[in-house]
Amino acid sequence: MLVNILILNNKINKVNNEMEKYETMIGLEVHMQINTKSKIFCECSTDFGCQPNSNTCVICTSQPGALPLLNKQAIEAVVKTGLALNCKINVASNFSRKQYFYPDLPKNYQITQFSLPLCYNGTLKFIYKDKEKIINIQRIHLEEDAGKLIHKDNYSLLDLNRAGIGLMELVTSPELHSAEESFIFLNTLKDIVEYLATSQCNMEQGQMRCDVNISIRQVNQQTLGTKVEIKNLNSISAVQDAINYEYARQIKTLTDGGKVVQETRAWDSKLNITKSTRPKENCLDYRYFTEPNLIPLNLNDTLITKLYKEIPELPYLRKQRFMVSYQLNAYDASYLTSTKLLADYYEKAVKFSKNNKIAPKLLANWIATELISKLNVSKLNIDKSPVTSENLAKLIDLIISGKISGKIAKQIFVEMYKTSIDPVTLINKMNMKQISNESIIIALCNESIKENSKAAFEFQTGKVKAIDYIVGTVMKKSKGKANPQLVVKIIKELLKNSVNKI
Ligand SMILES: [Zn+2]
Repeated sequence: MLVNILILNNKINKVNNEMEKYETMIGLEVHMQINTKSKIFCECSTDFGCQPNSNTCVICTSQPGALPLLNKQAIEAVVKTGLALNCKINVASNFSRKQYFYPDLPKNYQITQFSLPLCYNGTLKFIYKDKEKIINIQRIHLEEDAGKLIHKDNYSLLDLNRAGIGLMELVTSPELHSAEESFIFLNTLKDIVEYLATSQCNMEQGQMRCDVNISIRQVNQQTLGTKVEIKNLNSISAVQDAINYEYARQIKTLTDGGKVVQETRAWDSKLNITKSTRPKENCLDYRYFTEPNLIPLNLNDTLITKLYKEIPELPYLRKQRFMVSYQLNAYDASYLTSTKLLADYYEKAVKFSKNNKIAPKLLANWIATELISKLNVSKLNIDKSPVTSENLAKLIDLIISGKISGKIAKQIFVEMYKTSIDPVTLINKMNMKQISNESIIIALCNESIKENSKAAFEFQTGKVKAIDYIVGTVMKKSKGKANPQLVVKIIKELLKNSVNKI
């Protein structure tokens, strides 16, 4: 038994030692669906979930003689994304044809950008293990999506609703070194693009897909190792899993004395492995040439300046500002700025509140717990919240001013969520008005002291916490309506007087 454990430990150490010898180089190609109502070269809708082939026309089904008409908003979305990612803009650019047999794109070429992408040489910054990391973005270009094949037992169906939808493809340098770094990179990119509203990046609807280029090399080696491309990953977690698998596979191949082959692989999410689909990707020649049916693009400075001015404060900077302005910790600030809508809701509520010291933290807690859990159950986005930011701020102000207890506030909040009515009206309607009448509270306190004589004695003999039992009884008797600050004050006075009497 002991011998077996020793052998196993040796094997684990050997694998760990081998892993330490190598570093991973990862480059990503991210395809994001551009947030436009119509497709890139025709007026067909980009709505998701419609009847197959209902969003099609002569252009996106590639009928002979049909000519593409360029969607200006798609160009603007890509340029705006590029500007937000510190890219240089190719003022003069054009489109090319990428020749390939696409069973789901009937014209058998894709209109894309080749030698002159709209954006190039950008950067994306994120925090990894408490350190700032900057990844270079080689290019962001515009292209059209293909349709979708639905495979049945012995035949396949074709849905062209997606054919011709505008995509922006962002290509990074191979500067990421782990699945975790790639995960943070993709989430940071997704947050930025969502802030810009240039893509919704809805993974379930296939709006963000990723190809991963991964190679390993020995630490200190200058040249890159042999590259393997994993195609068409449709979620950020799939990217992470595929990188982890491929990293281990390539190390095992080398340590077993084999060679990593340049090839394209696919991720099998059921078996959690990558599988070879096409060897020697570099042998493919797409025979690019300039698209003759589209005139070259010439962007003017006025448009670029306008797009630059439209870029909102981005999540990284907004998070830093939230931490400073509202005294939030990094976790809360990061959560609240994770989407623009959530950050906007929070900031509006803070501005509505009359208290600027305690309210920012309380609002952050109420949004992250009470509100978001209810919205999740109702499957609603924060911008569709039945509780407006103004009404939530009013409720928080009522708690801070001591007009209602936290417990009553929760009951009112439930009604606010159901009815969208403001808290002051609801307090009157639900007869939740706080009891601040001293004689009523004194009577309740006296009763509660009698019922908790042990706790009263303990408080009088120095156990300060014992008062909580008596306060709890008063709150229960008043159904949570007694003014808690007044209750504490009166109990203390009553107990002090009874000590004096002794
Ligand atoms: Zn169309």
